[in-house]
Amino acid sequence: MADAPLPHALGATSPTTAEDAPLYAPRKQIHPQAVKGRYRTIKWIVLAVTLGVYYFLPFIRWDRGPNAPDQAILVDLANSRFYFFFIEIWPQEVYYITGLLVLAALTLFLMNAVAGRIWCGYLCPQTVWTDLFYAVERIIEGDRRERMRHAKEKLTLPVLGRKSLKHFVWLMIAWWTGGAWVLYFADAPTLVYQLATFQAPFVAYFWIGILTFTTYTLAGFMREQVCTYMCPWPRIQAALTDEFALNVTYRYDRGEPRGSMKKNQALKLQGLPAGDCIDCDQCVAVCPTGVDIRKGLQLDCIQCGLCMDACDNVMDKIGRPKGLIAYDTDMNVQARIEVRPEMRRIVRPRTLFYAGLIVLVGSIMIASLAMRQSLYLSVMHDRNPLFVRLSDGSIRNGFTIRIANKNLDERRYALSVEGLRGAKVDMVGGEVDQQCRPIVSVGPDQTLEARVLVTETASPIEESAVLRFVLTDLATGNTVSTSDHFKAP
Ligand code: SF4
Ligand code: SF4
Repeated sequence: MADAPLPHALGATSPTTAEDAPLYAPRKQIHPQAVKGRYRTIKWIVLAVTLGVYYFLPFIRWDRGPNAPDQAILVDLANSRFYFFFIEIWPQEVYYITGLLVLAALTLFLMNAVAGRIWCGYLCPQTVWTDLFYAVERIIEGDRRERMRHAKEKLTLPVLGRKSLKHFVWLMIAWWTGGAWVLYFADAPTLVYQLATFQAPFVAYFWIGILTFTTYTLAGFMREQVCTYMCPWPRIQAALTDEFALNVTYRYDRGEPRGSMKKNQALKLQGLPAGDCIDCDQCVAVCPTGVDIRKGLQLDCIQCGLCMDACDNVMDKIGRPKGLIAYDTDMNVQARIEVRPEMRRIVRPRTLFYAGLIVLVGSIMIASLAMRQSLYLSVMHDRNPLFVRLSDGSIRNGFTIRIANKNLDERRYALSVEGLRGAKVDMVGGEVDQQCRPIVSVGPDQTLEARVLVTETASPIEESAVLRFVLTDLATGNTVSTSDHFKAP
């Protein structure tokens, strides 16, 4: 195999990269053929798990006590809360969401460094729903040959009936997709009842309509066009990958020169070079984006692995080893041609870097969640006036404080200040305890805003000073504090 030709010399056109791909090419209708195999099975399992999670997650209950919703995952827009099992995120803690997004991005980078566009091929929602829509189409309209034949047929009643049934099922899936989305924003069983009895808020119907339309259009009609022209990830990932990332690769060192089985057998008998590829085009027939993987890595290839299954089935039938198309690298193909050792490096600086960052960000988030306070205090100094001099010479500053009680019961808190020797603190409309500290009650899972006046009475000061506000939970003795400045002339 030392003299095996490169794909360019094999009559295969050069790989279409992000740079040399045309900006737009007229669409060719693709009718992918059904295939059975290891990667198809993995894809069915991923499809069932991801869609199962998406459609049924809102119905999982989570007991948070009497004053909190019992839905495991809930985006409570009305009360500005996000519930995720035992975690409750407040607006001030939006950094947890940022952390989650950073983790998701890093995981995507790691997946890309290990196995190229594995996200696109197995997990991307566009791939999953398109796969489901193809399955429906196949059940109702038949496999590739039948669909190709139907595409040329006149619109007779049976054809119209099949097409109508297919679009009806697609619309039902799309509608369910939109319906599941809104269930994440309200109590799911209640909203289902309201939707069924037409009592749900207009916004719920609006979003179901939008998502029904987008799912039906993107998965039913645009399909591979979304991956090729709309999605930025293929272009971004091309810049993030390297020569060690495993990609669905046609091993041209083994497959070429290709030819019909008969022709290649004859060549082999004469002692001439002949590859394992019998040019049956099965790998192209099953491809959901219509790619011929034998032309090399291409932008349109979503790395779904179905061509590997198709080719493995062919290899089985002709008694050759599987893996003519496999997860591999062009570098290794070249190495085999040049009779050099292959290099497989999943653990390398790039993957270690991403994995390290994932562990770091994940650890910070877990530590921060573990040390999370159930009480939050923020203070804002009055802008105008910054201070007031009273008739007895003392100086007064005004503040607005905000207290967040993240507990699920009502709590009473005492407010005090530190940093000024003779400071007296008053809360507008509040009661005081025996130590003259203002006392305030805050309802369960609620915030409270209050006006606070701090007066320096003991010795009028001439300079601004740092003032520390301390809030004490009277039930537990826990305290939180925050600092601001006490302004003076
Ligand atoms: S399925 Fe395999 S044998 Fe058939 S054309 Fe594709 S690479 Fe060649
Ligand atoms: S070439 Fe193979 S891996 Fe790429 S999209 Fe087509 S079937 Fe999937």
